[in-house]
Amino acid sequence: LAELISVREAQNSICTQMHRLEEEICGLTEVCGRTLAIDIHSRVDLPPFDNSSMDGYAVCAADTRQTKEEKPVVLRVTSDIPAGKAPDVEIVAGTAARIMTGAPLPNGADAVIPVEWTRSSGSNSIMVLRPVQPGDFIRSRGTDLRSGDLVFTRGRIVQAQDVGVLAQLGFNSVPVFRRPRIAIISSGDELLQPGEPLVPGKIRDANSYTLFHLAKNTNAEVIRLGIAPDDPHKIRALLDLAVEHHADLIISSAGVSVGEYDYVRKIIEEDGTLSFWRVNMRPGKPLAFGNYRGIPIFGLPGNPVSAFVGFLVFVEPAIHAMTGGCQTNLREIEATTQEEILSDGRESYLRAIVKRSPTGYSARLTDEHQGSGNLLSLSRANALLIVPSGVKCLPSGTAVKVWLLDNFKEI
Ligand code: AMP
Ligand code: MG
Repeated sequence: LAELISVREAQNSICTQMHRLEEEICGLTEVCGRTLAIDIHSRVDLPPFDNSSMDGYAVCAADTRQTKEEKPVVLRVTSDIPAGKAPDVEIVAGTAARIMTGAPLPNGADAVIPVEWTRSSGSNSIMVLRPVQPGDFIRSRGTDLRSGDLVFTRGRIVQAQDVGVLAQLGFNSVPVFRRPRIAIISSGDELLQPGEPLVPGKIRDANSYTLFHLAKNTNAEVIRLGIAPDDPHKIRALLDLAVEHHADLIISSAGVSVGEYDYVRKIIEEDGTLSFWRVNMRPGKPLAFGNYRGIPIFGLPGNPVSAFVGFLVFVEPAIHAMTGGCQTNLREIEATTQEEILSDGRESYLRAIVKRSPTGYSARLTDEHQGSGNLLSLSRANALLIVPSGVKCLPSGTAVKVWLLDNFKEI
C-alpha cells in the first residue's frame, strides 16, 4: 500500500468507489446548479404556434410583390392582433392585420411586414414600401424544438438558461440527484481559528475554509466540523461526528504523511479501508483515499496549495461521480508556454497566469515561488499549468494543458 500510484490510477480508483446519490424532485427556483437525474424530452413544439417576430402587418406576401417605395401597394388593415390573443380574422388578398411581436399569425397570412417598411395611408390602410417573401418575419411552430425531441441529458448541471427552457416546456419541477452532504475537518496541533491571537508555533487554519468553499461551489451541502488536534481519539471523535451527520463524503486535511503525529491515515486503516495514500504528483504526494466506517474519505495533504490542488484533481470528480455529472473537466484549455518550465518528473499542477492573445492562450508561472505552503500565490494565479508525468522540461512555446481557476476572468 506504500506504493506510489499515478494521478489517473488514483482518479479511477476513486470513481469506481463513489456511489450515485438518490434522486429527488426539485422545483424551478431551486434547480440551478443541480444535476439532472433523467433525460428531458420536450412535451411541446417550440415555438408552440406560428408567430410574428416583429411588430408589423400580417399579409399575403404575393400582395407585396410589385411594391416599391415610389409606387407603394396599399393594403386595408382589417384587424389588430396583440400578443396573447388568438386571431379571429382571415387575411385575404388586399388586406393586412396589425400584428405585434409574439402574436399568432392569422390564417391566410404567410409573411409579416415590419412596421418600419410601411407608412400609414388614411385611418385603416397602409402603404407597403418593400416587398416580403413567404415566411419572412415568421417564427414557425416547432422550428426550435419538436415535441418528443431530447433537450437535456441526464447528468447535465442545470444552468440559468436551462431553467427558462424547462419552464417553456411546461416543467414545474424535475428529478435531480440529491445534493451530497460533505463534512470538512482540519487536523493539527498547530492550528488556530482565524479569530485567535497567534502564539509561537501556531498558525491559523486555512484549509477548512478553502475546502468549505470549493465544496460549496460544487453545490454540495457542506458542514465544517472544526479542528482536531494530533490526537487519535480527538480525530476519531470528529470523524464519528461526520458519521452522525450522515455525511456522504469526508474531506480532512493534514496528518496523512509519514510524520510521527500523522494519525489520520492510521485511523482510516483501522476503522475503514485505505485505498491509497501516495500519488505521484506535485504538489500533494501524500494524499489518502479510502472510507471511514463506510463513508468515502479524502485525507488531503496539509499544505494549503496541495489541499487545493488535491480537491480539484480528485475531490471534484468524486463529487460529480456522486451526482451523476459528466467527467469532462470544464476548466481545461490548451495554452502555449511563454518560458521554459522545469519539473521533477512527477505530474505537476503549477500555479500559472494565463492570458488571452490573438493567437490563443499563453501561460507563464506566477512570480511567487511554487512552495506548497504558499497559498497567496494561488490567489495571484488564475490557472494551474499541468506538466505531464515523466516530463522534466517544457521549452518555451510548448502547448500545455491548463485548468482555468474561477478568477480567470478577473486577471
Ligand atoms: P501535515 O500534513 O500535517 O504534515 O501538514 C503539512 C503542512 O501543512 C504543515 O506545515 C502544516 O502546518 C500545514 N497545515 C496543516 N493543516 C493546515 C491547515 N488547516 N491550514 C493551513 N496549513 C495547514
Ligand atoms: Mg500535521
